[in-house]
Amino acid sequence: MSSDASNAFKIKARRILLKISGESFCPANQRGISMDSVNHLAAQIVGVAKMGVQIAVVMGGGNILRGAQFKATNGAASLQEATAHYMGMLATVINGLALQDAIEAQGQPTRLMSAVQMDAVSEPYIRRRAQRHLEKGRVVILAGGTGSPFVTTDTAAAQRALELECDVILKATKVRGVYSADPEKDPNAVFYPELAFEDAIRQNLRVMDSEAFAKCAEHNMPIMIFNFREEGNLAKAVCGEHVGTIIHQIKRDA
Ligand code: UDP
Repeated sequence: MSSDASNAFKIKARRILLKISGESFCPANQRGISMDSVNHLAAQIVGVAKMGVQIAVVMGGGNILRGAQFKATNGAASLQEATAHYMGMLATVINGLALQDAIEAQGQPTRLMSAVQMDAVSEPYIRRRAQRHLEKGRVVILAGGTGSPFVTTDTAAAQRALELECDVILKATKVRGVYSADPEKDPNAVFYPELAFEDAIRQNLRVMDSEAFAKCAEHNMPIMIFNFREEGNLAKAVCGEHVGTIIHQIKRDA
C-alpha cells in the first residue's frame, strides 16, 4: 500500500463508468429528489463530457427505496422481498429521468437505457447500442440496475463497466474515499489514497458490495472512490489527478 499515490495511477479516461448513489440526488440526510442536487451532479457530468470523455452513468435508488431495507422495515408477509427489489430498480429509473432532463438542459445529449423494460421513457439496455451511443458522445444513463433482484446497483456498475469496456469505475460518495475505519466514529481512522484489490479484501474494507468488488478484482477493473460533493472532483479524476482512493492491481516484487 502506498502512502502517496499521486503518480501511481493515471487514468486513460477514454470511457468511464460513473456510479452515483441515490443519496447524491438530495441534500444530506434527506430523501427523494431535489433538482438542485441533480443539477449539481449534471453540471459535473456535462463538464467532463465536454472534455471528450465517454460517460456511462449507473445510478442507485437509495434516496427513494432500497429493497432489502424496505422489506425489513415493512416485513409484512404480503410483500415478497423480490418485489421490494423490483421497486428499488424502478426507483433508479425515476432518478434516471431526473438526471436525463438535468443533463440535457445543460446542452449535452443523453440516452436513458433501462434493464427493466419501460418503453415509454427509456430504451431497453442493449450492450452494443449503448456502446454506439457512447461513441457518439451521448451520456448513457443506465437505469434498472442489472434487471435482477437481490443485488444492488454496485453489481450493475461492475457488470456494465466490464461489458462496456470502461477504463475505470468512478464511485461517487459523500466521503473522501476509503479509510481503515469509519472516520466519523474512529479518530485514528487512516485514509488510504491507494489500495491493492487484495489488501482491500484482506482488510475487509467496505468499498462496494462484496460481489461487485470481487468481479472488479477478478477482471482488474480499477475503482476510484471520491467525494462528489466537492466541486470539480470528477473532472480532476478523469484528468488523472488523484482524488479519493484508487483501488487497482498493484504489481509487487516477488
Ligand atoms: N436493485 C436490484 N437489482 C439491481 C439493482 C438494484 O434489485 O440490479 C434494487 C435493490 O433493492 C437496491 C435498490 O434497487 O437496494 C436500489 O439500488 P441501490 O441500493 O444500489 O441504490 P444506492 O444505494 O446506490 O442509492
